[in-house]
Amino acid sequence: MVSNGTPEKKAAGASPDQLTAAFGRQLSLASRSIHADDYTNTHPAVAPPMHVSTTYRYSDNPDKLLPWSEMDPSTLDESYIYSREKSPNSTRYEAILSSLLGGPAVSYASGLAAFHAMIVFLNPKRVAIGGGYHGCHGILKLMKKLNGLEQVELEYDDDLAKLQKGDVIHVETPVNPTGEARDLAFYRQRADELGCYLTVDATFAPPPLQDPFRYGAEIVMHSATKYFGGHSDMLSGVLAIHPERAHGKDGQPGWLSELREERLHLGGVMGNFEGWLGVRSLRTLELRVKRQSESTQHLVDWLASQKRARDNVVSEMVYKMQHSSLQDEASQPDSWLSKQMPNGHGPVFSLWLRSEEHAKRFPSKLFLFHHATSLGGVESLVEWRAMSDSTVDRRLVRVSIGVEGWEDLRDDLLQGFQALSEELKN
Ligand SMILES: *Cc1c(COP(=O)(O)O)cnc(C)c1O
Repeated sequence: MVSNGTPEKKAAGASPDQLTAAFGRQLSLASRSIHADDYTNTHPAVAPPMHVSTTYRYSDNPDKLLPWSEMDPSTLDESYIYSREKSPNSTRYEAILSSLLGGPAVSYASGLAAFHAMIVFLNPKRVAIGGGYHGCHGILKLMKKLNGLEQVELEYDDDLAKLQKGDVIHVETPVNPTGEARDLAFYRQRADELGCYLTVDATFAPPPLQDPFRYGAEIVMHSATKYFGGHSDMLSGVLAIHPERAHGKDGQPGWLSELREERLHLGGVMGNFEGWLGVRSLRTLELRVKRQSESTQHLVDWLASQKRARDNVVSEMVYKMQHSSLQDEASQPDSWLSKQMPNGHGPVFSLWLRSEEHAKRFPSKLFLFHHATSLGGVESLVEWRAMSDSTVDRRLVRVSIGVEGWEDLRDDLLQGFQALSEELKN
């Protein structure tokens, strides 16, 4: 019997390579964040479905059954087996991230799960790391306990000189919590001289602000909890691999299949819901990040001009501020910084208030900024940083700019400083 109610099956959309061929150029970042996953789209629904399954049916055809251990890993993209290996929502999320970041991307349950997987994979004897996100130092301490991994200080050249072949130079830029940038070309050169890998935590400057692969990073890491998620409602981490390292040559496995294999054993995959949320969030990445970066620049410029002018409440309350746009090199068009961040600075900066008491009380005076840790969401946040990082100056307030109107944020900061000034006078 002919079933005349059966709809025609839709073909999946074009792959990023097919799109590039059709347009004769790579599509813009904004278009790729909407279409880089079209080829995974086999259902006629325009919005992505959410798959919650942990397990997937094998082929009905006994002749096509191939035990997992005998499969060619390069064909694994076609077939799902068990969600600790991979799942449709995170595959789709990784398809978009691979295009946006410029190298094949592997997703993880959190930024720290990604950093851990990266260190396990590269297995260095020494890691050079500077000040920055304290959680990554926590992972290195665990690795020290397990196998004696040594940590050396990124900022001291004498320390860098202790590195040997196969060790890792890990550069976070811009740096948490100050938003200041580090020179990737400099560290690439040191890595080449020493035979080390260069890995970059680029969480504070997502696309389109910075592309660490242009400076030869082997692996680019992001806490996707921040700008990729963008709505303070999902945890995720990602490792993107330099295209030349991702796929193996001469029968050697590439880093992509090895990282996926190790993730299967570490078990740090994203949940199904997070994969789905991640796709939804990446659609607007460019809109959000550009807006956040521009608003931040307006606010940093305004705060800096108030400080310079003296005789106002901002200069009375703020003792010091830091952001990559305030570094000397930011005003020199040919400097490493202007080249490294050609499309604007990151949306996080730090203020040092007059005293610890000022820093502790200031967040409670604001209407629009939530007092909370984390960053990168559509909501602006401030944090008296001593709350969650015991290593920083207790006068420091970290500011993460969201997508509200910047003039409203300026006025909120201004009334907050006025209220603080009043309170501490009495
Ligand atoms: C938040 C953050 C991390 C850790 O990411 P999680 O998703 O919280 O595990 C790592 N590096 C930087 C720079 C971060 O801001």
